[in-house]
Amino acid sequence: MDFRLSEDNLLLEQAAKDFSARAIIPQAHIYDESAEFPKSIFKEAHASGFFNLTIPEKYAGIGLSSLATSLVIERLAYGCSGVTTSIVANDLALTPIVIAGTEEQKEKFVKPICQKGDFASFCLSEPGAGSDVSSLSCKLQKVEGGYLLNGNKQWITNGGYSSQFTVFAKLDTLIDEKNKAEKHKSICCVVVSRSSEGVTIGKSENKLGQRCSNTTTVSFENVFVPNDCLIGKEGEGFYTAMKTLDFTRPMTAAIAVGIASRAFDEAMSYSFQRKQFGQQIFDFQAIQSILADAGTDIDAARLLTLRAATMADNGEKNSLESSMAKRFAADSAMRITTDAVQVFGGYGYTKDYPVEKLMRDAKLMQIYEGTSQVQRIVIAKELQKKFKK
Ligand SMILES: Cc1cc2nc3c(=O)[nH]c(=O)nc-3n(C[C@H](O)[C@H](O)[C@H](O)COP(=O)(O)OP(=O)(O)OC[C@H]3O[C@@H](n4cnc5c(N)ncnc54)[C@H](O)[C@@H]3O)c2cc1C
Repeated sequence: MDFRLSEDNLLLEQAAKDFSARAIIPQAHIYDESAEFPKSIFKEAHASGFFNLTIPEKYAGIGLSSLATSLVIERLAYGCSGVTTSIVANDLALTPIVIAGTEEQKEKFVKPICQKGDFASFCLSEPGAGSDVSSLSCKLQKVEGGYLLNGNKQWITNGGYSSQFTVFAKLDTLIDEKNKAEKHKSICCVVVSRSSEGVTIGKSENKLGQRCSNTTTVSFENVFVPNDCLIGKEGEGFYTAMKTLDFTRPMTAAIAVGIASRAFDEAMSYSFQRKQFGQQIFDFQAIQSILADAGTDIDAARLLTLRAATMADNGEKNSLESSMAKRFAADSAMRITTDAVQVFGGYGYTKDYPVEKLMRDAKLMQIYEGTSQVQRIVIAKELQKKFKK
């Protein structure tokens, strides 16, 4: 076991840090306030090689390992997690095609998005199906030459700006009313172009945090999906979605580490500047305890994240480790950002300092890509399997 990063990864991490400091941090609070989609930052991120990070170079992505991606993502999220969520959403939308699509589908649906710097969205959640994705109600009906897609998707990151949607829906002929326990076996994964007739984008959500990341509903009404837009086989969609989430979860954990480490840096430097009772507040043991716990948990979250990412790079199954990383990093980020506001006292509660934004942004990490409660269910199930072996 060697905890040192390679020379290449150190250089990459530094480049992401520099990009974040130059292109993201100075504008983050402005986009947070306006909740505007920061197109110019994304354009620059694409030009600088900080977009489509995990997508193979063959399909015009950057082709980074999961480990290297986690390092970059952490640095970008240090600048703004809203920007980073929208960047990672492209990997999330394109990964199902990379892992389950044919060569022609990767050329047709992955490469052009990466080449043009377009956005794509991952459409799994629905108004009535969040944690319980197998109960989703979007339907595919077999017709000549393909399928008709009907239903509504909720909470779709970049929905308002995406030119392509990776959609999970149930195929009518596979729905087995008698066997409800196997309901996930009817789910298929299809690619839908935004320009298809019957696609409607809803309003942008006015969110608590990560406000510049666009989130919308997407509705499909009798949308024709040609046969060649089915990714993988009929009924394999659920497994493709789960494999995708196992792969992308270390990246989500890395966003949480980035938020937490920014809050920690801000709190540390403020604790040396601020004086009360004639001394810097860092000298109070109560403040030191907060900072000591934060520093420890950030390191632990980062190590869990890099372990899950390394396992993905080695082709090992990492459901347990990626859920542990995501759960711990998200919950730590929430606590560390709340504590950072505490270290700043009343000033931390205002928009004049960056910590209140971090606290609002951190909350989302406990919700999307599987809530902290759901991660614990996954962890417990995986531990049970290990224990019973
Ligand atoms: C800003 C944002 C962006 C998002 N982006 C995307 C996206 O791009 N694509 C996409 O498909 N989805 C996206 N999501 C959806 C996200 O993944 C879901 O919100 C999440 O999975 C939770 O689902 P839900 O909101 O329906 O909550 P629910 O599932 O209704 O959960 C409500 C509460 O109940 C708890 N709960 C549920 N089931 C259990 C259980 N079995 N045991 C214990 N507790 C339980 C949850 O932990 C939570 O606290 C996004 C969400 C947000 C807010």
